[in-house]
Amino acid sequence: MNIAFIAHDRKKEEMVNFVIAYEPVFNGHTLYSTGTTGMRIMENTGLSIHRFMSGPLGGDQQIGALVAQNEMDLIIFLRDPLMAQPHEPDIIALLRLCDVQGIPVATNVATAELLVKALQRGDFAWRELVHKYKPGEV
Ligand code: PGA
Repeated sequence: MNIAFIAHDRKKEEMVNFVIAYEPVFNGHTLYSTGTTGMRIMENTGLSIHRFMSGPLGGDQQIGALVAQNEMDLIIFLRDPLMAQPHEPDIIALLRLCDVQGIPVATNVATAELLVKALQRGDFAWRELVHKYKPGEV
């Protein structure tokens, strides 16, 4: 599965701890992230992550491009609900695209935990069917 991690600054420690806790589950999947989030995860785990640009510089949009093509299977996006972000329009756009494509997206660690347990159980197998079709095909 293609999995993306994004964490706002005050959520990065929570993200790192979360990924450490579920590292064996994430191992073996194809992992993506925004720049700094991915760097922090890789510094603290043995996981290899394809890092896009930092969120405020367009990283959310780069992940959104994969979502638009229905190539992303799970997004863990730990948002900071108590601080305004300069790239708020990008964040809204990414979440909108997840809704367009019906991509599972967790915006807090409680939901993230449920989705990761589902991933572990094989509940994401339906996404393999999606990958058989090229973007734009119905
Ligand atoms: P970052 O981007 O991982 O590069 O910090 C995330 C964000 O703040 O949107």
